[in-house]
Amino acid sequence: MTQILVLNSGSSSIKYELIDMAGPQTRAAGLIERIGEPMSTLTHEAQGRQLRIERPMSDHREGLTAMAEAFEQTIPVRAGALTAVGHRVVHGGDRFAQPAVIDDAVLDAIRDCIPLAPLHNPANLLGIEVAMQAYPDVAHVAVFDTAFHQTMPESSFRYAIDRATADAHRIRRYGFHGTSHAYVSRAAAAFLGRPVAQTNTITLHLGNGASACAVRGGVSIDTSMGLTPLAGLVMGTRSGDIDPGALIHLLNMGLDLGDLDTLLNRRSGLKGMCGHNDLREVHAASARGDRSAASALDVYVHSIRHYLGAYLVELGTLDAIVFTAGVGENDPVVRARVCAGLESLGIEIEASSNEAARGPSDVADIATAASRVRVLVVPTNEELEIATQSLEAVG
Ligand code: AMP
Repeated sequence: MTQILVLNSGSSSIKYELIDMAGPQTRAAGLIERIGEPMSTLTHEAQGRQLRIERPMSDHREGLTAMAEAFEQTIPVRAGALTAVGHRVVHGGDRFAQPAVIDDAVLDAIRDCIPLAPLHNPANLLGIEVAMQAYPDVAHVAVFDTAFHQTMPESSFRYAIDRATADAHRIRRYGFHGTSHAYVSRAAAAFLGRPVAQTNTITLHLGNGASACAVRGGVSIDTSMGLTPLAGLVMGTRSGDIDPGALIHLLNMGLDLGDLDTLLNRRSGLKGMCGHNDLREVHAASARGDRSAASALDVYVHSIRHYLGAYLVELGTLDAIVFTAGVGENDPVVRARVCAGLESLGIEIEASSNEAARGPSDVADIATAASRVRVLVVPTNEELEIATQSLEAVG
């Protein structure tokens, strides 16, 4: 059996999934939360059996010990039964266009990217180091959120600021959600029965974090997130695009760097505009007559259409628009509003298929028969993509 263990380590959490690549099929999945707090929890599901462990886990090492216990009690994973451990790593800078089998040089390179992702990369590294000690005899692979976008041309990734300053501080567009954009663009081509290399898609990853990507022939040529995951689309609590001059103005008005960070990452987006970051709550508030919720929804949809238009022009020809992630997979209202009035561009949604596609388990085509561009709802699976790339990396 070819099994990959996928680990996604955050600062106080570890998400994991054990995937049997024949199938492929999830054998077990779990989440360890509140690591380092007085009470930590592990929730685990393996082939219909559920298990919960509640006890203090002071660090990631104790978290992985609890994970090993959960496996032991449900589906014991013998030493040697793993083909690889795949790790999600948020920022690979411009060093990684592919997944990398982890050695000291790769660890150094991930460390080197900490200034670009100060919240994420240290947690990812910690998870890797602890897992390498827990599973010393298996290959560990780093799969980067940024890697898929390394194919962007300079016209897409360069910011128009002083070249020396930009280069000295590695200021450029990197883009994120790469495993999701890669997975859904390939799944879309497969669904359409076309070679990936001849398929153009605009992939809209609309979750709590959100980004758009222009994919030409399976290759990312532009994406909405930038140096950090703050740029681009309006998100749950993040601002997306904002005039950088507004930040200078706010600093001049007395806000400090910490205030700005909190404002843009936690008190912006849908939450900042109307108090709700979950689209379901925004719709409910709007239906109750809450004007700020209605306006937040307008701004949200506008930002998606803004990128849709831009990427349509960049690609020239488009085969499919792909909706994915929490909102993209579940929200027919957002999908209908994003695609409204675009018939002259060959984009037309079929209302009943759009309504029916709520959390589909497989790809759903929600375009009318006459629509030249297909509109697809594709459930993303970042864990499976990390596992697939890890398997390819270990060859
Ligand atoms: P994700 O980050 O991909 O897990 O997406 C989470 C977000 O998806 C939530 O914050 C909601 O805004 C959205 N979401 C989840 N389920 C639904 C639903 N049934 N309808 C609308 N939005 C949803």
